[in-house]
Amino acid sequence: MIDAVDIHVKGIVQGVGFRPFVYRMAKKYLINGWVLNATDGVHIHAEGESALVDEFIMELSDNAPAASKVEEIDIKEVPLEDFDSFEIRFSDDEDVAETTLVSPELATCDDCVAELFNPNDRRYRYPFINCTNCGPRFTIIDHLPYDRAATSMAAFPMCEKCAAEYADPLDRRFHAQPDACFECGPSVTWSVGADGPISLGKTREESDAIFAAAVEMLMAGKILAVKGLGGFHLVCDANNADAVAELRRRKRRDGKALAVMAQGMGDVRALCEASEEEEAVLAGSTRPIVLLRKRPGAAIGAGLADGLSELGVMLPYTPVQHLLMHDFAEAWYAANPAVDEAGDEPGRLVPLLVMTSGNVHDEPICIADKEARAKLADIADAFLGNNRPILTRFDDSVVRLIKVDEADEKPVYAIQFLRRARGYAPVPVSVAAEGVAPAEGVAPAEGIIFAAGPEQKNTFTLLRGTDGFVSQHIGDVENAETYDAWLATKDRFESLFEMTPTAVACDLHPEYLTSKWAHHQGLPVTEVQHHHAHIVSVMAEHGLTDAVCGIAFDGTGYGEDGAIWGGEVLLANRQAFERFANFAYVPMPGGTAAIKHPLRMAYGVLWAYDLLEHPAAAAALAPLGDEAEVCDTMIERGLNTPMTSSVGRLFDAASALLGICTEPSYEGEGAILLEAAMETAGADVAGAAAVEEAAGVAGEDELAAKERYAVIVEKNTATETSTAQDTSVLLLDAEPTFHALLDDLAAGVPASVISRRFHDAMVGAIVMSAELVRAMYDISTVALSGGVFMNRYLVEHALADLAAAGFTVAINRDLPPNDGCISLGQAVVASARLGE
Ligand SMILES: [Zn+2]
Ligand SMILES: [Zn+2]
Repeated sequence: MIDAVDIHVKGIVQGVGFRPFVYRMAKKYLINGWVLNATDGVHIHAEGESALVDEFIMELSDNAPAASKVEEIDIKEVPLEDFDSFEIRFSDDEDVAETTLVSPELATCDDCVAELFNPNDRRYRYPFINCTNCGPRFTIIDHLPYDRAATSMAAFPMCEKCAAEYADPLDRRFHAQPDACFECGPSVTWSVGADGPISLGKTREESDAIFAAAVEMLMAGKILAVKGLGGFHLVCDANNADAVAELRRRKRRDGKALAVMAQGMGDVRALCEASEEEEAVLAGSTRPIVLLRKRPGAAIGAGLADGLSELGVMLPYTPVQHLLMHDFAEAWYAANPAVDEAGDEPGRLVPLLVMTSGNVHDEPICIADKEARAKLADIADAFLGNNRPILTRFDDSVVRLIKVDEADEKPVYAIQFLRRARGYAPVPVSVAAEGVAPAEGVAPAEGIIFAAGPEQKNTFTLLRGTDGFVSQHIGDVENAETYDAWLATKDRFESLFEMTPTAVACDLHPEYLTSKWAHHQGLPVTEVQHHHAHIVSVMAEHGLTDAVCGIAFDGTGYGEDGAIWGGEVLLANRQAFERFANFAYVPMPGGTAAIKHPLRMAYGVLWAYDLLEHPAAAAALAPLGDEAEVCDTMIERGLNTPMTSSVGRLFDAASALLGICTEPSYEGEGAILLEAAMETAGADVAGAAAVEEAAGVAGEDELAAKERYAVIVEKNTATETSTAQDTSVLLLDAEPTFHALLDDLAAGVPASVISRRFHDAMVGAIVMSAELVRAMYDISTVALSGGVFMNRYLVEHALADLAAAGFTVAINRDLPPNDGCISLGQAVVASARLGE
């Protein structure tokens, strides 16, 4: 029997080789009809033997191209039209309102890499080789539908050979919009110094000469600005400590780790422990920076990630990077003849490039060649650019894999985002309620909600129905440059996805630039408390609608009482929250100065817990010098001393008291180094016991230490002006934790052990809070969010202990737990309130 059906495929089906795939399958199953790309997805009219039509449809969902993401297939029986062939049709539909998802940027595929290094291929060493399975997408798209004329490739008309590939449905480059070759496509550019003459690599010889010059400079320890997919990188030889130090000096980047690029997995394995799952992400089509645990004894150069247990690594993802890395490795091995290329022993040196964002301190990354030469003039010695414009800025994404569960005694890993940008954004995050039709769950508000996001690690979100279009990481929106970048990205999203906001959402903080913007739009504004947004982002990602126990451990968030929140246990749903418990307030003498100088924070903490007289306090606070008195006066008089419940600040204080980090060069460094200090804790336990015995904390086992460190709960007393939001029922008191920390410090217990005990106390506080909420409200679903959960030890142990105690636990999985998730939470709260 001959069937005729119309098939509508929704999801990421544009620019990923989906139509050639449909065409091939139609040929395979003897289907006649047509396929059409429209802005709402791929439409197929299929006529054929009914069993074959069924198989054809199965193939569409089961064997779609790797980079595509089929979200929905609608099938409708239609009258037979008696087609005698299968054809590809072209769309002229301007009226389809919905937007098809174009895939994000895709790393150069294996086929293209093979051609890139094949001397017989016509694209041998062509720095912009790509096909339907790989290459730039959003970084070159000006408007939809995705078509060459709508991209920054419009200026490069295809040569005959490229045009023939482009038109052939069976070719890997069929409708590959950025398809190009030496004859017709973009070229690399090169200049030494910002004002030097600019040469163009139009032919292979010219192009190769540019790569040779670039490699020569890298080998000489110079710093290059290299144009990538979503912006410039600053690049230098990662094994050259002087070059790395010079890059840090010029970029004014002190402590923060630098990401590196390795040539391949073999080299990565020489440096880091990489599980199968980590290798899959590292080598996958998104190619983020993956934070991997350093291998003991690995030859990781000074100045890359000193004092840290992880190194951020990525593999080349553009043809320019493949060529640069390949040529550099060749020159590097020639200069280091003693290094065994295939060796697997730890300590083996490998060719490695630093690849860090090409930006000026606190500003967005440069995307235009002219801009890069102007802004990076004092940082880069030479510029390897190109004449294909980048239309939208995308930083590299940063992820790690964390252990979220255990099945049959095998760990189950999941991606944790630290920064979501290239390769992931702007694929929308579904906020639909799990298991129910959107209409039956929390009704999404009509119209389009624009959520402005927070100040730090900003993203914004456009929410339409249950699709949250979360922007790529934008940065800290606290200066004119980043604010302009924020506005420009917002405009591009609105025009690209044809969305005009009908309502806005923003943070409760009145001074954020994004909040001020929101209040000037003449649209209804929903203000959302920072930590409520954190928790709702997790609920939205997991489709949760019923009330949860939300635990937000964070750095800074404006509270409803004007204090700085950040250690919150919230009873939350998508509309509202009640503050169930919070860490007892401690003073922050000097406000933000206490973040920059965490010994001040430590002073505030010890003052609040009445521990300033503890025998270990004086020595630990000694580096404060005269500032101690200043702190005291500020606290006593309440001068420039906000109160905070932030757990991030408790980590800062602990790290400073242990002397691990007293002068951080970026926010969060104290906590990161405190976590890293734990690495040797396991080995130290026996030694620690001996030390403790000698010091009089005799015969103590770890269980007893746990009890000493445990955070305790106190009943809170409300005042006349208290509201349900700003006053918790319970206060979490970390006095015992800091008391025990000082006791151990006085007893000479190693910092690694103290650090682990401190971490365990915070894990304990999480489990205890969840148990109190369950006992009182019978709620056993816990949502964890906030920047503190970027701590691998904390999140992995909290997940394990909560699961063991019978809780269902949700954490951010599509977005980072840091403030990168805030805008989605804001949008969903606004939607829930407006939809009420
Ligand atoms: Zn390719
Ligand atoms: Zn060509």
